[in-house]
Amino acid sequence: MKVGVDVGGTGLRAVVYDNQYREVKRFFEPWKESKKSKKIQKQLTDFIKKMHTHGSVGIGLLGSIKNNKINNAPNAPGLNEMNLAKYVFDNDVNMFAVGESKMGAGKPYRNSIYLTLGTGVGGAIVIDKKLYNGKGGAGEFGHMIIIKDGRKCPCGQKGCLEEYVSVRAVERLGKKYLRKNMTPLQISELALKGNKNAKKVFQETGEYFGIGLTNLSNIFDPEAIVIGGGLSGSLNLMEKGINKTFKPSMVVKPKLLKAKLKDPVCMGAALSL
Ligand SMILES: [Zn+2]
Repeated sequence: MKVGVDVGGTGLRAVVYDNQYREVKRFFEPWKESKKSKKIQKQLTDFIKKMHTHGSVGIGLLGSIKNNKINNAPNAPGLNEMNLAKYVFDNDVNMFAVGESKMGAGKPYRNSIYLTLGTGVGGAIVIDKKLYNGKGGAGEFGHMIIIKDGRKCPCGQKGCLEEYVSVRAVERLGKKYLRKNMTPLQISELALKGNKNAKKVFQETGEYFGIGLTNLSNIFDPEAIVIGGGLSGSLNLMEKGINKTFKPSMVVKPKLLKAKLKDPVCMGAALSL
């Protein structure tokens, strides 16, 4: 059997699969210590050991990876510098793309692009059914600049896509149009009830997203763009905005698809074994 582990901002998730990649069992463990503490490295090691009793283990990790070490995990900084050389692992967005392209929404397509909309924007590229990594870091679509001299991004640049299409971007627009601090979920609930300002939040977010999607389509001309992550639940609310700006130069636009798997990162991690 194979186990896919998803190391995320809220904790550790794992799914045990049989040889046909059907789910056999699942686990979830929230982080027990502060995510800034190095102690969470031990929790991760213990969790992996426990999962090994069910089969071989593949891991999808939040944050970037360099020289087999977790280089930058802003949502769990306690993991920074952790060495993973003895494991099969990749960053969570790549695992998401492997899972969705082999078993999920991207399955019918040879060339597809993957985006996760959450705290930030993650990206991955699948060409001829294979993950394309560049020198190791390809797919940082969240830091594609869509506005000159735009909002300052933690990466040091200005006007990055993820400053306009992410949880923090939606929260910022929520504050602007609804005049209070609300989560994207609360804003989407209001929008679904017909609140005009809440709708405007997602429409404007969609307009920015459409610019990013246009750029990606013009560069890759993929058959499909698969979208996951927490904010993907509000794609319908963004649609009007997306349609306004998503205008790539090719005659046939790529299909915009919502991710299909329940745990795409776990699936991708298990498939990578
Ligand atoms: Zn950036």
